[in-house]
Amino acid sequence: MTLTLDAPYVDSDISFDALRAELTGSLHTPGEPEYDALVSPWNLAVPMRPAAVVAVRTAEDVVAAVRFAGARGLTAGVQATGHGAERSLAGHLLVLTRGLDEVTVHPEGWARIGSGVKWSGLVPIAASHGLAGVNGSTTDVSIVGYTTGGGVGPLARTYGINADRVRAFEVVTGDGVFRRVTATEHPDLFFALRGGKGAAGIVTAMEFDLIRMPEFYGGAIYFDAADAARVVDRWRGWADDLPELGTTSFAIFQLPPLPEIPPPLAGRMSLAIRFLWAGSPPRAPGC
Ligand SMILES: Cc1cc2nc3c(=O)[nH]c(=O)nc-3n(C[C@H](O)[C@H](O)[C@H](O)COP(=O)(O)OP(=O)(O)OC[C@H]3O[C@@H](n4cnc5c(N)ncnc54)[C@H](O)[C@@H]3O)c2cc1C
Repeated sequence: MTLTLDAPYVDSDISFDALRAELTGSLHTPGEPEYDALVSPWNLAVPMRPAAVVAVRTAEDVVAAVRFAGARGLTAGVQATGHGAERSLAGHLLVLTRGLDEVTVHPEGWARIGSGVKWSGLVPIAASHGLAGVNGSTTDVSIVGYTTGGGVGPLARTYGINADRVRAFEVVTGDGVFRRVTATEHPDLFFALRGGKGAAGIVTAMEFDLIRMPEFYGGAIYFDAADAARVVDRWRGWADDLPELGTTSFAIFQLPPLPEIPPPLAGRMSLAIRFLWAGSPPRAPGC
């Protein structure tokens, strides 16, 4: 048997049939058409070639995958969207969580989501109750991937990081055991999961607090990157005095020259000054 993490796998003697038979979801190995579609990452510069990819549908599927991997000395990685793709993170067996798609918003101010859910799957439902999540600059990443990394977003100065809003994780640890983890049940694991990303286990579901925010005032102003030094210098002086109801950041980026990108930004290095005000709009600086 030859299994290495950096090269396409040559897997001569591992049969995944026993695992496949246990799953509610599906398992695919190189050569099957579904394999390429499933492991095709968001970041095309990072090819991921695990020996098998397991598209889970239940927490029991995750338990089965982790136990199977453990019994055969294989590593198991986890991925929701692939936004944080890194070749070695795929492991020998890549668990894809997109099928864990539960979204329940409790109008009193908290949510339970499956670990495959992106912020875009929660925001409209939460907004219909006047609620919001403390999400980051994009809604296209998974809530669990974002939160297990801390989760610092455009509301951070007012509401902190999303890891501090977690009530409970459901997680499968490396020993293949499913656990519910809170501040009082497995507190060390609860601590580790709020920053440790996939290192502490594969989260299957998460419960966390939302904030009441029926509307907000904010957005971004774009500049040509050639003006970045001057603009950032002015922005720093302005940001120094910003009350904690405001959060601001800047980003330098280059968007591709595609028709759907606004012409002033397409194919050009740009600077965005981003701002969000959590107080009443008329009191926002600059209003
Ligand atoms: C355009 C863009 C804007 C961003 N803006 C922000 C921002 O404002 N603030 C911020 O904090 N971050 C931001 N990020 C970073 C983003 O939060 C991380 O890349 C995050 O890890 C993406 O999670 P994912 O699950 O979608 O990605 P994936 O590539 O699917 O997963 C990345 C990693 O997350 C962990 N992970 C995913 N699912 C699980 C799980 N079920 N159990 C345990 N670990 C898991 C694993 O370590 C995995 O390797 C941004 C990323 C992008 C692409």
